[in-house]
Amino acid sequence: MKEEKKVTMDKILNLCKNRGFVFPGSDIYGGFANTWDFGPIGVELKNNVKRAWWKRFVQESKDTFGVDAAILMNPKVWEASGHVASFGDPKMDCKNCKQRFRADTLIENHSKGSVAAEAMTNEEMEKYIDENNIKCPHCGVKNWTQIRKFNPMFITSRGTLESDADKVYLRPETCQGEYVNFLNIQRSMRAKVPFAIAQIGKSFRNEITPGNFLFRTVEFEQMELQNFCTEETSMDIYSDYKAQALNFVTDLGLAPDHLRYHDHDKLAHYAKAACDIQYLFPIGWQELNGIHHRGIWDLSRHQEYSGKSMLYTDPVTNEKFLPNIIEYSIGADRLVLALLCEAYDEEVLDENDTRVVMHFLPAIAPFKVAVLPLQKKLSDKAREVYALLSKEFMTDYDEVGSIGKRYRREDEIGTPFCVTIDFDTMEDDTVTLRDRDTMQQIRLPISELVSYIQERIKF
Ligand code: ATP
Repeated sequence: MKEEKKVTMDKILNLCKNRGFVFPGSDIYGGFANTWDFGPIGVELKNNVKRAWWKRFVQESKDTFGVDAAILMNPKVWEASGHVASFGDPKMDCKNCKQRFRADTLIENHSKGSVAAEAMTNEEMEKYIDENNIKCPHCGVKNWTQIRKFNPMFITSRGTLESDADKVYLRPETCQGEYVNFLNIQRSMRAKVPFAIAQIGKSFRNEITPGNFLFRTVEFEQMELQNFCTEETSMDIYSDYKAQALNFVTDLGLAPDHLRYHDHDKLAHYAKAACDIQYLFPIGWQELNGIHHRGIWDLSRHQEYSGKSMLYTDPVTNEKFLPNIIEYSIGADRLVLALLCEAYDEEVLDENDTRVVMHFLPAIAPFKVAVLPLQKKLSDKAREVYALLSKEFMTDYDEVGSIGKRYRREDEIGTPFCVTIDFDTMEDDTVTLRDRDTMQQIRLPISELVSYIQERIKF
């Protein structure tokens, strides 16, 4: 279990900063709150996670089509989506220290997740906070404003004048890019309902309570798809995505007992069902992804606001209808955080020796293999092996320090295989291959290395 491994967010954060996974954004300027830059190791990990998602949900699904829509959209999109008018989290300000918090988060943290604040009205939340004497987590004083809605969209302007007419928004969700392209894709790909449109891209939210490292940031990537279907098939498709979403994260290496479904009690007025998959982060059970049955809401709103018919014509019956939408959405950064927490291990080898090792699934490990010459005089041969392997995989090369220290450095970034070049290599073209998890070593001909590794990094 997680508790036994004693993973804390601080340990993960320190490892990430020290080993090139993630750095604070704008670091030399003292950072810029809740922004993070992925370093050389982290960008590989995140790219591998995104690739694995795309492979599973686009490449291996003949009825799912990918898009990469523009981040800046016609502002009317955000009127249609409801973001301009009413989207917002219930926020409260501490009158004492002026910090801003989400009322539902205050309640959920106070009740350790036992009270479902999402099902409460603003009045019920204010009453609960008052009766339970919930104080400001920042200054410890209880002196709250009333709950207000807060629009989390970042606003910028297009053109040279900062007038209202030039106002544009950084998208707070990627899915609108799929909705506005529903007809384009249906026509150009001759798609028949049910089909899905998938996208991986950046979203921006002026979150009230960002924090916990990558968990809640103001700029993040979403991997999500929207399935367009008939009402009759919609609940089956919804259940199917629930299962697929769970399979995907367990296949990537999250332990089943660190995952659970959380069906929503309170639904948006248009929604027919909603469920999160939660992960046991070091900060407790938290949402990892969402699966939502959105009914015909999105297409009907775009039909109304754009004035364009969004009707789909059934090719067999000729019936015209607005498809229902099932949405499955997961944050790439949040999933990377979960995978970092899951992979982290402090393994006691003997009384005086502990190694930190990241047990990533080989398919998502930043480097697949590291080439380590036993001595510097073997580096010419080692560079030949590096040239061979780096054509196929992300390959690390390290000739500095004792071999033991170099193994530990690779363990810390989760490299599944280390290849050591020694004096026998010069004689017989064989190398030692060390397995990260078992630390066992085998001898292999150089000519077999690529196929050996390829076999073990498949997803
Ligand atoms: P939350 O309740 O945590 O605010 P949400 O219900 O608003 O999330 P969605 O809009 O459904 O989330 O977004 C889908 C996914 O995007 C989430 O499950 C999460 O993985 C990710 N996500 C949402 N907001 C953030 C954020 N601020 N930072 C990082 N990832 C996020």
